[in-house]
Amino acid sequence: MTPEQLDLIRSKIEARLAEIELALSQDDPESKPVAPDVAIGRLSRMESMQSQQMNLAQQRRQREEKERLENALERIEKGSYGSCAYCLQPIEYERLEAMPDAVVCISCAR
Ligand SMILES: [Zn+2]
Repeated sequence: MTPEQLDLIRSKIEARLAEIELALSQDDPESKPVAPDVAIGRLSRMESMQSQQMNLAQQRRQREEKERLENALERIEKGSYGSCAYCLQPIEYERLEAMPDAVVCISCAR
């Protein structure tokens, strides 16, 4: 991978991290508790709790992705980014471009 390609990946990771952080800061469950009077509207309280569950699941995925992206940035800093965690071969650039948090190459991912 060329330094230019690595820079491109790094900016992709940073952009994605910023996106996730924004999303996480916008739907903080603490700031939006299920209000009892939601039931007065079209959503029943149960439906609103279900949608809160879905939000929580989505947030969990976002936090996991954030963690993987932060790890990827760390590997870029350390110079170990782009090597497969299993076979130690370079991960295909196309794969990293599509999935910057990938830690294994295409053949090991299969
Ligand atoms: Zn591999």
